[in-house]
Amino acid sequence: MPTDCIFCKIAKGEVPADIIEQDGEFTVFWDIKPAAPVHILIIPNKHIRSINEAQPEDAALLGRLILKAQAIAIQQGVDQDGYRLLINVERGGGQSVFHLHLHLFGGKHLMAIHG
Ligand code: 5GP
Ligand code: ZN
Repeated sequence: MPTDCIFCKIAKGEVPADIIEQDGEFTVFWDIKPAAPVHILIIPNKHIRSINEAQPEDAALLGRLILKAQAIAIQQGVDQDGYRLLINVERGGGQSVFHLHLHLFGGKHLMAIHG
């Protein structure tokens, strides 16, 4: 991993974050600059730069990433009203932190939010 990756540092506890939960595979924390009342980031602890770098062996991890988001949406009480999951890919796709992450937005009308 790049030694300066902020999300690797959050996953390792080297940089503080408002962590909701962490297990052996994922770290879930509040976005530092929320774009919605619920704006949570879910990252694999393993450093993957972006979806462009995901490999066939990451298929199960990526599936569990989405199921983790589903569980967090339920936990946060936004599942019934609805929520948005977003992955930005590379600069042109809006990615600014180059450690794969899934945005979970909820809690208000979401049509104008793109992460
Ligand atoms: P991206 O634009 O790469 O899809 O999303 C990166 C997200 O990470 C942004 O929404 C930004 O606010 C958030 N972010 C960047 N640095 C930090 C940080 O140090 N801590 C937390 N909690 N969120 C961060
Ligand atoms: Zn990283």
